[in-house]
Formats: sequence, C-alpha cells, structure tokens
Amino acid sequence: METTTCRLCGTVFEPRRTTQKYCSPTCSRRHRDREWRNRHHDDTTQTLRAQLESAVIENRVILEATTAKFQMQLDAAERKARDRLTFQANRNERETDVLRTRLRDLASINVDIACEVPELKAQITELQLENARLIHSQRADFQDFTQIAGRLFELCSRLGLPLDKATKEIFQRRGWRTSTLVPEQ
Ligand SMILES: [Zn+2]
Repeated sequence: METTTCRLCGTVFEPRRTTQKYCSPTCSRRHRDREWRNRHHDDTTQTLRAQLESAVIENRVILEATTAKFQMQLDAAERKARDRLTFQANRNERETDVLRTRLRDLASINVDIACEVPELKAQITELQLENARLIHSQRADFQDFTQIAGRLFELCSRLGLPLDKATKEIFQRRGWRTSTLVPEQ
C-alpha cells in the first residue's frame, strides 16, 4: 500500500483516494478554515489599505488646500508689511531732509554770528575807550569849572558884589557857599 504525508499535520497515512491530501476530516476542515481565514484576512487588509490610501489622498488634498490658503495669507501679510515699511521709510526720509535743511540753516546762522562776534567786540572796545575819554574830559571840565567858580566867588567878595540869581542857584545846587562878604540886595 502506498503512503503519503498529511499536508497539515505531517502525519504519514494511507490515502483512500489518490486525491486525498489530509490524514483526517479534522485536518481537512482545519485546512479549509485556515484558507478562509487567510482569504478573509487578505480582504480586510485590502479594504484597510484602500481606506488608508483614500485617507492619504484626502489628507494630501486638504494639506495642499491649507498650504495654498496659508501661502496666500502669508503673501498678503508680506505685501502689507512691505508697503508699511516703504511708507515708514519714505516718511523718515522726508523728516530727515527737513531736519537736515534746518540744521544747515542753523549752521549758516551760527557762522554769521561767529563772524559778527569780533566786529561786536571791536565796537565794544571802541565804546569803552570813548567812555573813558568822556569821563576824563568831564573830570577836567569839572576841575576847570570849580576853579572858575572859586575865583568868581572870591572876586565878588572882594568887590562887595552879591552873586546873581542864576549863579546863586548853581552854587546852591552844588551845596556851595553862596553869601559873599556883602549883604544881599
Ligand atoms: Zn493530518
């Protein structure tokens, strides 16, 4: 009798038919169950894979749409920021120009003043000298005047003449003695 090996459990047995592959109905059934499970498992795997692929595609679409949206927002924000920066830069430049012009004006005024200072100093010196000359000449005049007044008083006394009204007023104003050696008329 010819023997064969069970494809499932490996037992060596005598097949009743030439097509018999398993030692027992149990092994045969187990084999069928296993086959079914494997097929079912494959189906499940394929379904999951298909779901996964579609989910991946869907996510990619969402990601691309979101990326595009954010890119647009980013571009808009960048444009806005650049515009604002340009505006600010222009304004700063204008203000700088104004300040520079004002500074230049002030500098030229400063130069004018600096030029005038020596001239003014010279004028002051001249006025001081003039003042000293006037004071000196006034002192001399006063000495002369006092001399003449003293002499006049002496002569009037000697001649027995009183001082005239105007001269007497001058003497009084200066706090000098006014009565000559004669009785007043
Ligand atoms: Zn078997």
